[in-house]
Amino acid sequence: MLDQFTAMLTDVAAGQERFRSAWSPFSDDPSLRVDDDRLRAALHELQERLQDNYPFFHPMYAGQMLKPPHPAAVLGYLAAMLINPNNHALDGGPATGQIEKELVADLARMFGYADHLGHLTSSGTIANLEALWVARQLHPDRAVAFSAQAHYTHARMCEVLGLRAVEVPSDQNGRMDLEALNALCLSERIGTVVATLGTTGIGAVDPLPQLLELGARHGFRVHVDSAYGGFFRLIADGAADGVAGESFAAMAQADSIVVDPHKHGLQPYGCGCVLFRDPSVGRFYKHDSPYTYFTSNDLHLGEISLECSRPGAAAAALWMTLQLLPLDAHMGIGAVLRRCRGAAVAWAELLRTSTRLSLLLEPELDIVVFFPDTAERSASAISRRSDALFERAMNDEENPVYLSKFRVKTALLRTRYPDVRDDAEWTTVLRSVLMKPEHADWVEKIHRRVEEIAGELGD
Ligand SMILES: *Cc1c(COP(=O)(O)O)cnc(C)c1O
Repeated sequence: MLDQFTAMLTDVAAGQERFRSAWSPFSDDPSLRVDDDRLRAALHELQERLQDNYPFFHPMYAGQMLKPPHPAAVLGYLAAMLINPNNHALDGGPATGQIEKELVADLARMFGYADHLGHLTSSGTIANLEALWVARQLHPDRAVAFSAQAHYTHARMCEVLGLRAVEVPSDQNGRMDLEALNALCLSERIGTVVATLGTTGIGAVDPLPQLLELGARHGFRVHVDSAYGGFFRLIADGAADGVAGESFAAMAQADSIVVDPHKHGLQPYGCGCVLFRDPSVGRFYKHDSPYTYFTSNDLHLGEISLECSRPGAAAAALWMTLQLLPLDAHMGIGAVLRRCRGAAVAWAELLRTSTRLSLLLEPELDIVVFFPDTAERSASAISRRSDALFERAMNDEENPVYLSKFRVKTALLRTRYPDVRDDAEWTTVLRSVLMKPEHADWVEKIHRRVEEIAGELGD
């Protein structure tokens, strides 16, 4: 794909020339000019420095939520960045502003929203901040609740907003414990509950239908944080290569949704998205404009965003990508996700029968969490061995494999492995985000290699 990208770079340059040729020629100011040799030298030095990276692109990198964007996204980003439109206002970027509106409508449709208000953001964190800010505008005196497995930024953003945050325990599957939430609602005034559909740590999916029911009973709003998991809506059909459907189908009833195209949407960083089901929340963004403004055709995205400047290039990149890899259950993004999901299912199966590694939980999406077996069955022994395995796997000169580490409550581990002694509150385990479709063909190789390295570790 890199060769295809290189070939298209001249087309990007040609498009830029065509755009500029419509205006009278001028020469660049001398203050901006740089010498060819120095430009080449600086680029060379940068490329040298960039060698200091982990191979995020490679299937043997099965660690954090990281991978390069699709080349189509980079070409789209570059083509627009050479103009540098600002999607704050339509006059900052008429074309990319319109493109963003279309994209946001496509994403809203994917989640089943009949009506919506929303825009792209610089990240999932900012998108969630915005959703929680609207939550506060609606219920300034009520708390926000989220599960113990929710993204750490929710607590932080509640602090920023001056909202009381309440953590709800998670159950043995890492999902929000609804009984605990129900009990909490009897003692606390909860305004909004954050449901995580695809937790960042283990990919757990909070039970949204039941959560919405509780919301109707107790009068709280529901915000869905699917920064990571949102695109799995496309393959939430319960099929062998899909994921369970109920929670994703219920997203249409949630009050707001966050999804990160820069995670499973093949985008470079700088692309989150927030969506509200009720467009009238737009009134909070602008104090001196009547709400009808927001349903007119001339919506300026900056009028419904907490951020001011935003790159039109991010919208261009996502548009290019979805032209080629559409939001479809079986083609494009859906096909990519089915491969990732397949990789997770396959690895879980291998882990179940392994004599050196143990599966912590059944994967719900494409994140697999496991730990190395130890002679001494204790939390601290497992933690030590996970640390050692992680280091050794990554630093192998010949055949490295990159994993990530994750800390779980030992109590959670003991629900499945009660023989493990809880000599520490937390246990370090290993985690692999199988977010590249190539993982489907490589997962057996990854597994054998991790097993091999586990075998090389002394006790
Ligand atoms: C990644 C993630 C976030 C934060 O998003 P950023 O784009 O990294 O700021 C929030 N919630 C969940 C569930 C995530 O996976």
